[in-house]
Amino acid sequence: MLVDYGSRSRVFVAIDTRVRERLLALVQGEDDYVCVPVQGSGTFGLEAGLQTFIPADASVLVLVNGIYGRRIAQILRLLGRRHSIIETREDIPIDPEVVETALQDRPDLTHVATVYCETTSGILNPIPEIASVAAAHGRRLFLDAMSALGAFPINAKDLDFDTLVASANKCLEGVPGLSFVIVRRETLVASEGNATTLSLDLYDQWRTFEKTGQWRFTPPTHVISALDQALNEFDSENGVRGRGERYRRNCRKLVNGMRDMGFRPLLPDHLQAPIVVTFYMPTDPKFEFQQFSEMMFQRGFVLYRGALSFTECFRMACIGRLDENDIGAALDAVRDSLAEMSIVTPLAA
Ligand SMILES: *Cc1c(COP(=O)(O)O)cnc(C)c1O
Repeated sequence: MLVDYGSRSRVFVAIDTRVRERLLALVQGEDDYVCVPVQGSGTFGLEAGLQTFIPADASVLVLVNGIYGRRIAQILRLLGRRHSIIETREDIPIDPEVVETALQDRPDLTHVATVYCETTSGILNPIPEIASVAAAHGRRLFLDAMSALGAFPINAKDLDFDTLVASANKCLEGVPGLSFVIVRRETLVASEGNATTLSLDLYDQWRTFEKTGQWRFTPPTHVISALDQALNEFDSENGVRGRGERYRRNCRKLVNGMRDMGFRPLLPDHLQAPIVVTFYMPTDPKFEFQQFSEMMFQRGFVLYRGALSFTECFRMACIGRLDENDIGAALDAVRDSLAEMSIVTPLAA
């Protein structure tokens, strides 16, 4: 990131081309897919992907169990694309049988859109099963794989998706500022004229890459160089396998350690993705989240308040450049903060 490449320099174009190839290879998509990046955070990628690859005459079934699923529906509403929503509570995975019934009953539905790991709760949705159902009924799948790509094996040869969106700064451990869409070549080629804005038109972006090898508008050069390096580190960790294992170790240690102190995770272990863990808010009257959060911050840790519709909670992540020692240090900080607040059992019996 310390090198300030010119975005049209030969050196930068080579890095950029390599990064796009590496991202495509990550999902074994070289034969049938194309990777089109876009400036901005993950939501920019979602908005670009939805407007470019969901045509005006489409009708989308959006499967929601958290804020990110809801965000897909919100973007479709702003775009004026027809859509229907099936929503379940944030601690309940999407049920492929319910999806199957909906697709049987509604021949007008052309697409299914959903979220791989719902970072709202940390729940893992049964994406391979949902993809099979969509494929069996000839519908196209749009996937928000933001907090999944890099931690779960996603292989375009057995997961039948049309469009997948992810970003540099989650499980790929790059820095924020870049999102990318991996789309079936056929869909991309047929998407001319779908987009409703200029800067998020991925068809136009792709045509420019094809013609010049360059971005249409100034790319985040430092972020792309950093992603190239992040992908080197990903490879030296043995890719998805090594990274997934590290995250699972982190998650196990975090959940066990928090349970031992009297906290309760929202999700049972079999629904918990090793990405982010949601804990019920303590009920001890001496507990005050703002204060707890500040104590943790002073010890070097940032907690996220939860965003569930039915209960108060907070979240702790297991992704990023963290290992079990870091998780151990976080657990020590929680223990010290509780002691400072004179809390013995966070959750009342
Ligand atoms: C992080 C994330 C996003 C994108 O959020 P941004 O704040 O725009 O980066 C979208 N979906 C999921 C599931 C996420 O985890």
